[in-house]
Amino acid sequence: MKRVILHCDMNAYYASVEIMLNPSLKGKPVAVGGSKEDRNGIILAKSQEAKMAGVKTGEVIWQAKQKCPNLILVPPQYDQYILYSKKAQKIYLDYTDQIEPFGLDECWLDVTNSKNLFGSGLNIAHMINKRIKTEIGLTVSIGISFNKVFAKLGSDLKKPDAITIIDYDQFEDVIWHLPANALLGVGPATNKKLKKWNILTIGDLAKTEPSFLQKKLGINGIKIWKWANGLDEGRVRVYGESFPIKTVGHGITTKEDLTSNIEVWRVLLALSEEVGKRLRIHRLRARGVNINVRSNDLIHRDFQTFLPYPTHNAYYLAERGFLLFKESYVWSKPIRSLTIRAIYLENDNLPRQINLFSDFSYLANLENLEDAIFYLHERYGKKIAYPARLMEDIKIAKEIPPEIKPPGIIW
Ligand SMILES: [Mg+2]
Repeated sequence: MKRVILHCDMNAYYASVEIMLNPSLKGKPVAVGGSKEDRNGIILAKSQEAKMAGVKTGEVIWQAKQKCPNLILVPPQYDQYILYSKKAQKIYLDYTDQIEPFGLDECWLDVTNSKNLFGSGLNIAHMINKRIKTEIGLTVSIGISFNKVFAKLGSDLKKPDAITIIDYDQFEDVIWHLPANALLGVGPATNKKLKKWNILTIGDLAKTEPSFLQKKLGINGIKIWKWANGLDEGRVRVYGESFPIKTVGHGITTKEDLTSNIEVWRVLLALSEEVGKRLRIHRLRARGVNINVRSNDLIHRDFQTFLPYPTHNAYYLAERGFLLFKESYVWSKPIRSLTIRAIYLENDNLPRQINLFSDFSYLANLENLEDAIFYLHERYGKKIAYPARLMEDIKIAKEIPPEIKPPGIIW
């Protein structure tokens, strides 16, 4: 039996929440990002009107202001975005327990087994669309298809406030003429390569010899070829499903022994980048951090602590790891190797409880910054942005793979 999968994508999410909370902004060019003084801050989201004026997500504020001088800038309110995201998920849960969030504003729903109760996928999409509007006050675009990748593609095809079906019987007609980068998994870097080989549309990609793609793009080549052909078997997770992976860690033996706190900080920062990246790929967050320190007399010491908020943010993990190090390690011998692990993992689709004792906005800002950096890396390569600390000699060999000791490695 063909599956029925919905992908619900709330339109211009951050900006729409701001306008809903402050209706005087309605109909005006609004962008979420930094403060007024922060000319070099980045635009995180924009309203339809700002979009029409040429404002783009990811660009710096002064550039956006040049294109749209009357742009109204509002600082992000993450607690609100999380709150309304949870409210939307609560509505989705009325139709199925197989709901898998993708960021705050997007969600997959497998409604294959809900048809007897609620009618066809299209019916369910109509109900959800209406309820998000009346109960929350936001609009959502919904894609309906037989797999996750096409459902997501469908939600991109018409927006705002629209429903698009991509049927099994005619998906070739509907999507094969679209540019290859409309497909999930084809980022700017991959798209550039595909163009070089004259693979311009999703159809071109589907008809390319898979062995060629595998040779050129590795495992990702096969994946996008399958997806272009409608062969995505990816399952929609059950909401809050637990994950079998226990820890994600990254460790290294340094080129020279470390002799000061600042050297330890740089290495932790470098190691955490990889840990954060893997957590992201596996859609996990850590509720704790563990560090293992081996001094040059080869004695191991192990320390761990809980985090105020679960996260996959590399900088935050490094920072907390370093704090733990300073509190726990007594410098008697130089350090030979260091490992940092993300522990007490959970799915990144679980809602996070904001508490009064720790500043969530600090972490939220770091997470946003990292999102922006990931975007830049994907687009322009790794060298475009990295922590200034890592420009100094960090006593790690440049090409580190042979030296990596990955405890709890998960791929
Ligand atoms: Mg959206």
